[in-house]
Amino acid sequence: MMIDLLYLIAAVCFILALKGLSSPESATSGNFTGIVGMVFACLAAYLSTDLSNMPLTLLAICIGGSIGVYIARSLSMTALPEMVAGFHSLVGMAAVLVAFAAYYAPNVFNIMGNYNQIYKSSLIEMGLGVAIGAITFSGSLIAFAKLHEIYKGNNVPKELNIFLGSSIVCLLIYFVLVNSQCAFWILTVLSFILGATLIMPIGGADMPVVVSMLNSYSGWAASGIGFTLHNDLLIITGALVGASGAILSYIMCKGMNRSLFNVIFPSGDDTYGTAKSTAQVRPYKQGSPEDAAFILKNAKSVIVVPGYGMATSQAQHALKEMGDILKKNGTTVRYAIHPVAGRMPGHMNVLLAEANVPYEDVFELDEINRDFATCDVAYVIGANDVTNPAAKNDPSSSIYGMPIFEVDKAKIVLFLKRSMGTGYAGVDNELFYSQNTMMLLGDAKKTTESIVKAM
Ligand code: NDP
Repeated sequence: MMIDLLYLIAAVCFILALKGLSSPESATSGNFTGIVGMVFACLAAYLSTDLSNMPLTLLAICIGGSIGVYIARSLSMTALPEMVAGFHSLVGMAAVLVAFAAYYAPNVFNIMGNYNQIYKSSLIEMGLGVAIGAITFSGSLIAFAKLHEIYKGNNVPKELNIFLGSSIVCLLIYFVLVNSQCAFWILTVLSFILGATLIMPIGGADMPVVVSMLNSYSGWAASGIGFTLHNDLLIITGALVGASGAILSYIMCKGMNRSLFNVIFPSGDDTYGTAKSTAQVRPYKQGSPEDAAFILKNAKSVIVVPGYGMATSQAQHALKEMGDILKKNGTTVRYAIHPVAGRMPGHMNVLLAEANVPYEDVFELDEINRDFATCDVAYVIGANDVTNPAAKNDPSSSIYGMPIFEVDKAKIVLFLKRSMGTGYAGVDNELFYSQNTMMLLGDAKKTTESIVKAM
């Protein structure tokens, strides 16, 4: 009774945490509610197990917790998507291991060993758990390697993935009907392979969707473990993660104007992030921080477009300082955030919030895109793909169809980056060579600090 109550409190906390995390204003309290929920969940889990295992359990918590703290502290913010992908792989592997443990030691999980109805439904859970878990595990490892840029990706024929997917479904049905040990093993191996082959051809611009999709898979895998372990909280939490990951994937696909099917099964010429730059030496305008300071001081309205480069250079504080000076000067300063700017959903929001940029100055793509046509200066700081007109004008481009900020419509575009190189998707940006663009080459933080000094 007590344990059920603790689980119920934890479940409610998790739901409230999700609600809190849906807006920057309530994100901190949402995070805290999630932590409280997790404390209740752990408490309930320990009280419901054999307490003689306590020393071993505490040792496991200490080791796991220390590794978690070490990883979270040593990884930079830009490497967060990799970390998330890495953690998803652990959830996937946990699901596989629990399914195997339940299959080979059913008594430990209170599953009756003879072939009755209870066992049959457990076979469904084990089969699904092992399939989703294995796909999540290998898929997350490939996503990790791609995001970490230690693996570039390969084309995989769509037909192979369809064949693997259908074989897994057939094996799953056969396994449940016949309880074949051999089918269980083949199912596991094929699922590991499918996880890898699904993610291998996906790259660059679609990676955020992949990370969120893996997030969803890991949720369903956790939910599957919950059924096997008869743990209601795990079922609820897994379903929350699974559903929210699926919804986020859908929203992102909508934001990039791509269908989820095309993301999961890209065709051969659709491998984002693997394109090679064909940049030629072409004339462009280059300015100094003093030029930029002069232009900004005379602007009535400025829209800042932050991207990955702002994150790597940690320019958000200098940017806020510049914004404050401009505001004092009577200039309207707004910040435009693209759904896939940076390397993880919400990346730019977190950095701007860290620098205390007011929420009311921060706008999403749909809210601000039309205003570039009437603004004096677009200040593009370390962003590239999210402004690339090829997404609108070049049907042969790998980023074609992705909504972009129409910064080219601003009177002047100040482009802060270190070189004339490409962004994550590896696609050249025509905007660099445009008449109204001034390139400010150098580290974004240093350039912004110099502009502040010059102002
Ligand atoms: P991009 O990767 O397109 O461009 C970032 C630019 O920043 C680069 O062109 C780079 O140019 C510049 N840069 C890097 N370091 C610095 C620095 N220290 N100072 C100044 N400039 C710097 O980033 P965007 O944010 O525009 O687009 C995000 C891309 O990442 C999209 O393709 C998206 O699909 C993908 N992605 C997004 C994820 C997400 O969830 N948000 C996850 C994974 C991928 P240079 O080297 O010349 O300085």
